[in-house]
Amino acid sequence: MMIDPYNLEIFKTKKLIAFDVDGTLTQPKGLIDEEMTTLLKELLKIRKMAIITGEAFINIENQILTKLNLTKDHGQNLTLLPTNGGSIYTFDNKWVGTLLCKLTDEEKKEIITAINQVDQQSEELRDNKSYGLEIQDRNSQITYSAYGDKAPLELKLAWDNDFHKRMALQKSLQEKLPNFEVKIGGTTSIDITPPGLNKTYGINKIMSFLKLNKEEILYVGDSVYEKGNDFPVFQMGIDTVKVANPDETKIAIKNMLKEEQT
Ligand SMILES: [Mg+2]
Repeated sequence: MMIDPYNLEIFKTKKLIAFDVDGTLTQPKGLIDEEMTTLLKELLKIRKMAIITGEAFINIENQILTKLNLTKDHGQNLTLLPTNGGSIYTFDNKWVGTLLCKLTDEEKKEIITAINQVDQQSEELRDNKSYGLEIQDRNSQITYSAYGDKAPLELKLAWDNDFHKRMALQKSLQEKLPNFEVKIGGTTSIDITPPGLNKTYGINKIMSFLKLNKEEILYVGDSVYEKGNDFPVFQMGIDTVKVANPDETKIAIKNMLKEEQT
């Protein structure tokens, strides 16, 4: 079911709240702000929480964990699923990760070759500008950022409002890589993974890890539209709060905390 951030009555039936990162807890690639930090800490006191993103652990660390400053009590309630569950991290005074899915060196080579082939097309789409690393190896996922991972946020947000550039790159890459899953990641990026390694992979992993069923999970994400990276979670039957941006996520969390008190 699609859940309205302004009506969180369903919260009471949930044991785990899972969040996307970019566009949901933070601006794309941004830092979590103080209000969000406080709200997440409040939520961690009353529910288990998961963070699931196509990004690597280091991104979650930089964007969120450095600000959250978890104690053991809080940390136990939080599970991290970077690269959509390609690995899982739990907290026991420090974060400990286990790799759940990995691309082989051969597979990585095949993917990088295909990216280099479509990069020409991408250069035209971005006026030959680039900032930082364009290809990132995340073990279970290769991410291709059309502008590089250090591009200014305003530029990234403005680049492809209507998705047509990313859809063109996604299509070209998918044609070259029929044995992989190619999907739109962030505002300028394309993620390539083994088939099935989308967010449903991570959700299934955490369900078995925490012994939860679908009905006990509430998911919060900003890309809950066809081809969006949060959409498969909704499609698999997880109740999903669709938010427009981090401000709306704050409203959703406030309404969850309110529900708990009624
Ligand atoms: Mg997002």
